[in-house]
Amino acid sequence: MKSYKITILAGDGIGPEIMKEAIKVLKLVEQRNDVKFELQEAAFGGSAYFDTGHPFPEETKMICDESDAILKGPIGLNHEDSEKIPVDLRPERGALLPLRKRLNTYANFRPVSLPRRLAHFSPLKPEIIGDGIDMVMIRELVGGLYFGEKEVGVNDDGLRYVKETLEYNEAQIEQIVRVAFKQCMRRKKVLHNIHKSNVLKSSVLWNEVVGEVAVDFPEVEIHHILVDAAATALCLNPTQFDVMVMENMFGDILSDQAGGILGSLGLMPSACIGETNAYYEPSHGSAPDIAGQNIANPYSMIGSVAMMLELSFDMLDESKNVWNAMQSVFADGFSTPDLSKPGADVKMIKTDEFGDRVIAALSGSA
Ligand code: NAD
Repeated sequence: MKSYKITILAGDGIGPEIMKEAIKVLKLVEQRNDVKFELQEAAFGGSAYFDTGHPFPEETKMICDESDAILKGPIGLNHEDSEKIPVDLRPERGALLPLRKRLNTYANFRPVSLPRRLAHFSPLKPEIIGDGIDMVMIRELVGGLYFGEKEVGVNDDGLRYVKETLEYNEAQIEQIVRVAFKQCMRRKKVLHNIHKSNVLKSSVLWNEVVGEVAVDFPEVEIHHILVDAAATALCLNPTQFDVMVMENMFGDILSDQAGGILGSLGLMPSACIGETNAYYEPSHGSAPDIAGQNIANPYSMIGSVAMMLELSFDMLDESKNVWNAMQSVFADGFSTPDLSKPGADVKMIKTDEFGDRVIAALSGSA
């Protein structure tokens, strides 16, 4: 029997609520396969700061280092609670970025998918959704502006200033671009390269490297598109996209927009992959505005489990079964409140009921 250690970082806000549903799914997958999942929970994020004095405690680091994969819920606090924590110990700066750096999970896969029959979830017109949206955004995750040198001070004129550095070297760019080309070869062989080379030198180098790597993938058709134009195109013609590749900050912003065109960030799972480590998390934040109400959409968290089954444990069939089980809940006319307005022709369900229905559908699948 195969055995895997999975670290559970439930996180803040809606994190524990949606993680509970993801764990139900993991336990069922374990029960019906020749596999053992050893789950170990660890403190991480704003709640960890208030409990232990650090958002990424040493003990959590050790547990993460020893695990085969990490399942992470969203972290972060509302504005008022964030202000209670020293700037460098706030959840993203003190926990999330250090986790990414420590594991060197440089490739972030963010699937953006909405089948035609769920077009009513989207704020876009059905004719724009066409046969459905199905793309993957590949975001560089451990470089660029978020990880560059930072300087804060007062200049010679007595004005407060801040300086942040956007730095990439060609090796960093090449490794993420190769990931994207390989993904294209498994899909439609069309790559949209997102850049801002009309302004940023970093994008000029990025595009040069894309051109160099492209030589190894002659079958892939490449479209270069400025990040600002890409933002518009995502709304006007999202179905043109299949694989998109971009640097860290562009990916952060565009993938939230992608959640918007689907109808909710609750439909956005993700996988963060490195050479030897991987962790899985929803693309969204801790949604403090709806925390504790049992109304968050757990699709993003359960979808992250599906990605873990596929990418870390090679359990391709079970991964598909989990996706299908979630889709069947929607197909049966159910929806969490984020996806449908009151009065819409759907049966509104809560977070735990969505999880229960996924479990029921999964139990009925092969
Ligand atoms: P958010 O992503 O938490 O929420 C934006 C909107 O989407 C809110 O209206 C929220 O209710 C909704 N939403 C998000 N996930 C949902 C779900 N699963 N179901 C239903 N609705 C959902 O963004 P925010 O409010 O700007 O940030 C909240 C906190 O999260 C901040 O502290 C931020 O720094 C942090 N954050 C963390 C991560 C991460 O852990 N990777 C990512 C982004 C933001």
